[in-house]
Amino acid sequence: MVRLVDGGDMDCGSGLLLLITRAMRRLEPDDLLGIRSAERSVATDLPVWADLVGHEVVGTHVEGAGGPWWFAVRKVVGAAQDTMFSLGDRTPVGQRLWAYTNFDCNLACGYCCARSSPKALARRLPAEVARTAFAQFRDLGGRELFLTGGEPFMHPELGEIVAAGKGLERTILTNAMVFSRGQRREVLQDMDRSVVLQVSLDSATADLHDAQRGRGSWAKAMTGIGEARGLGFRVRVAATLFDEDPDGVRALHARLDQEGISMPDRLIRPVALEGFAETGIHVSLDTLEPEPTITADGAWWHPVSVTNPNMRIADDPLPLAEVFGVVTDTVAVQDAAIRSGREVFRCA
Ligand code: SF4
Repeated sequence: MVRLVDGGDMDCGSGLLLLITRAMRRLEPDDLLGIRSAERSVATDLPVWADLVGHEVVGTHVEGAGGPWWFAVRKVVGAAQDTMFSLGDRTPVGQRLWAYTNFDCNLACGYCCARSSPKALARRLPAEVARTAFAQFRDLGGRELFLTGGEPFMHPELGEIVAAGKGLERTILTNAMVFSRGQRREVLQDMDRSVVLQVSLDSATADLHDAQRGRGSWAKAMTGIGEARGLGFRVRVAATLFDEDPDGVRALHARLDQEGISMPDRLIRPVALEGFAETGIHVSLDTLEPEPTITADGAWWHPVSVTNPNMRIADDPLPLAEVFGVVTDTVAVQDAAIRSGREVFRCA
């Protein structure tokens, strides 16, 4: 069998490694993978990758002085490769799973990595898919489940989805603005109190939070935090900041002291240059530790990268073993590159 991967102008770190890893997993031993790339660095990096994983480059071709470059790689499954894949000292893949319950949201924050807004397509994760995915996750030894969006409480089946994760350490990321009344309030009230709510709160007072997330959102988030805690939920607070202004951070901590939110339940994170964000930290396979993430229509390397086609792991959230397999294979190559000191290899 011959399969072709067109890498466009991607280099390994920007997504080509994921594409070829996904394709290789679908091939039998001795099958050929054709790889095309217009990115100059791939002329050096691709043979290094093949050497690291033990596959054989059986042909190369360059169309002109400036590329694109073509490679034919024969899949070899051997002892060296098996040994290499069993090594590695990074966080074990498979302990943590992220699931986007939906992509619509009552807010449209300027830095939203998911491009969520009231106008976004909901792309709801069906409860049935969640049940299957979480059962597979438990069978694979998974422990931590994070449900995010969009605003998860806008998913009409959120209660069923959360219940499907029973037995896992469950956290829901929410803006805490939409569960004050009605059916969403009932969903929250009926929820297992072992579920943690992680609420976005960017500043001690409304000014910065509202500038980033919309007028009136700070006050509603504070109300939501109080309601959730009043119902007996553990609430973790997460602030998203473009720049760590020390005074602002100190003020936020003082406010959270007043509210009785303990230090382990506070998280300050930078803005990633993904989704709606126009500035922020550039992320890639090289800079993001993998945190496999499923959506209704695929799987991704990390929850901040779900609008980045180069960070897509699979076209379907199931089976989860395949999602984790792609990540594990990719991490193994990255670790092998680091161990062998092959710094030229940009995937590491
Ligand atoms: S950052 Fe969160 S609250 Fe803001 S639009 Fe995105 S999903 Fe909604």
